[in-house]
This record gives sequence, C-alpha cells and structure tokens, in this order.
Amino acid sequence: MDIYRADLHIHSCLSPCGDWAMSPRDIVARSREKGLHIIAISDHNSAENAGAVMAAGEAAGVCVIPGLEICSREEVHVLGLFENLGQALQMQETVYAHLPGSNDPELWGDQVVANEKNEVVCENERLLIGATTLWLDAIVDAVHSLDGLCIAAHVDRPSYSVISNLGFIPPDVKFDAIEVSFRVPLADAYQQVPGIERFPCITSSDAHFLKDVGRVSTAFRLESPVFGEIRRALLGVEGRRIEV
Ligand SMILES: [Zn+2]
Ligand SMILES: [Zn+2]
Repeated sequence: MDIYRADLHIHSCLSPCGDWAMSPRDIVARSREKGLHIIAISDHNSAENAGAVMAAGEAAGVCVIPGLEICSREEVHVLGLFENLGQALQMQETVYAHLPGSNDPELWGDQVVANEKNEVVCENERLLIGATTLWLDAIVDAVHSLDGLCIAAHVDRPSYSVISNLGFIPPDVKFDAIEVSFRVPLADAYQQVPGIERFPCITSSDAHFLKDVGRVSTAFRLESPVFGEIRRALLGVEGRRIEV
C-alpha cells in the first residue's frame, strides 16, 4: 500500500462562485503540480462538468471522482461522491427535480459547462447556488441508494454546515465522513470541532480558484488511487486508512 493525496472538494467554472479559470484541463494540471493523486469535482448542485474533468484527468493520470456539493433544505452543504459518472448524473437528476429558481449571472456569476478541451459548451441556467427542497436525511439516503459516499462539508464553518445550521450532527444521519476546511489542521480537527468524534475526518480545499487547489489535502493509505479504495479507507478495511 502507498500514500495517496486527495483533494475531494473542488469547484469548476460551473459553480457561479467558481473562477472562469477553473476549466477541466487547468484543474487537472494544477492538481498534478500540487502532487494530488485523486481529486473530486463537486460543483454546487450539479455534476455537469465532472465528465470533462474526468476525461482530462484520465489523459493526465489523475483520478477524478465525480460528485456534487448539494445544498439541503436546511441550507447544509454535503458532498455526494460517486464511483462513476452515471451515478453522479442520476443524483443530479434528483437534485434538479428539487432545485427551484434560475441563475442571475449579474448577481451570482456565470455557470459555464465546458468540455475536456476547455471549450465552452453552454451556460447552465438553474439557480445552482440555491438550496434544494430536499431534507438532509433524504439527500444522504439518495446518495447511498446510488452507492455514493456522503460527506458533511466544512463542518467548522459558521455557515452552510451541518453544525452551524442544525447545532449538531443528528445521530440518525449516516455520513460516511465529515470534512473540515483548510482553516482547521486535520490533526487538530477532533479537538477543535466537538461532536465529530464518531466519524472519519478528511480535509479538502473547497477551491474556487486555481491557486487554492490542493491548499490542503487528505493523505490516504490505499492499494491504488481509486474511489473504492477511498471507501475502504473510510471504513478502515485491512490497513487502509487516513494518515494524519
Ligand atoms: Zn460549501
Ligand atoms: Zn464547496
């Protein structure tokens, strides 16, 4: 087994708050520069750029996991990460069916769908920055029904996190892991963020700009840099683990 570095929360130019420069090829190139072996693309309420980044990653030897950062009815952000694009797009269908409103680019920013050659395909017109009408537990269940991993995003942040918005992590919500932001060193997470003890803890960049890709990452001990091994590391199967 080896140590593989993963940044499992990266936005692309599809996120209204994501920089134009967050194009499929450039995200992958920057990830390589930063020594990342695995990244996840998790745009707000959408996976429409995940396939293009996966294709760019395949060409460059970076494992790209397709995902979404879903905003629940309680305005809690959770990451849904999937083994393959089909599962991510199925989750996107559920999210789109419960996502009201349309984007105002002047107010929120552009939402660019790109291909793996960095060409603009179209603009997404949904209100991706908005909250879905899905309750948190329904999102976790939907992600799990598609064999995905559901991770509570940036739990240390004062907004849009399960702890900030609900006050605690409900005992019946079955997160596969929780994520702390770059503001909390992973080694200090369990001391600094009470209430997360029962979960595996990762850290990711939540990058919206190229310079932030890989500003923090999680070191996993794995057989190989693939989605299934991340799952096994979160479960602690046969020596796989998060290295802190
Ligand atoms: Zn978020
Ligand atoms: Zn994010």
